[in-house]
Amino acid sequence: MAPKICVICSAERAVLKRPKTGQQLCRECFYTVFETEIHEAIVDNNLFARGDKVAIGASGGKDSTVLAHVMKTLNERYDYGLELFLLSVDEGINGYRDDSLETVKRNKEQYQLPLLIVSYEQLYGWTMDQIVEEVGLKNNCTFCGVFRRQALDRGAAMLKVDHIVTGHNADDIAETVLMNILRGDIARLQRCTAIKTLTDDSIPRSKPFKYTYEKEIVMYAYYKKLDYFSTECTYSPNAYRGYARVFLKDLESIRPSAILDIIHSGEAFELREEVKSKMPVQSNCERCGYISSNKLCKSCMLLDGLNKGAPRIALG
Ligand code: SF4
Repeated sequence: MAPKICVICSAERAVLKRPKTGQQLCRECFYTVFETEIHEAIVDNNLFARGDKVAIGASGGKDSTVLAHVMKTLNERYDYGLELFLLSVDEGINGYRDDSLETVKRNKEQYQLPLLIVSYEQLYGWTMDQIVEEVGLKNNCTFCGVFRRQALDRGAAMLKVDHIVTGHNADDIAETVLMNILRGDIARLQRCTAIKTLTDDSIPRSKPFKYTYEKEIVMYAYYKKLDYFSTECTYSPNAYRGYARVFLKDLESIRPSAILDIIHSGEAFELREEVKSKMPVQSNCERCGYISSNKLCKSCMLLDGLNKGAPRIALG
């Protein structure tokens, strides 16, 4: 059988089938379409301004490693004029985060980017290993997720950056849309598809991989031989998201466009005015000043629960 030829350049042998479109491509054309789509997402949505200092949330995993690589590549290729930093959160998970942070330290050298690591222990006085000892394996990800969100903001404030980018990809966003529908979480459903989140009190965040498929990120990392860490967290029982993920993968195998279709459906949801008026108003936490819709932010409430030996009460 004659080798397949790349459908874009019509010259090179195709070495892969693009998951998003099913196109047979050569390696160089795959790199080009992959990077160009991310560049277009950045430019079409005005994610950055020239001179911005941008922190790349870096965990050492495939998404954030590819993000660091692509952000550096595009910044140089298109002369965005950004100053890039790596920002990592050390949750304090022995045998997992300590190893993945070694990858981030190597990425720092490979990409020649400054790196700041902030830890739960330093910010909250608790490591995730200690939290799991206290709360068990059922609600650990709630603590971890709330603390991480604030830790990234606090790290970004230390770096004095204008913007944070994270490696959330199209699959993550579609999963979140599904989960918010299943939970009936109207407020989050409206927010979760935004490529850029802007509030008065926090540093803007964006997701340049909003339209990038996870399978393509893995392919890109593989063909580019990027140095990333691929082990799952030891405390990863997030069963609900796991079901949404399996469901999404099943849909994708039948119809690859399902991922983008779900994101577009999420974008089309709009809150009626009478629902909007009943939504909690954002203000600032009385204790730490972080953005919150209650007197105390979720992070301070969870921390209170841990410090008082009653973490389940804090979970409500
Ligand atoms: Fe934290 Fe849960 Fe993710 Fe592990 S799986 S890093 S505990 S949120």
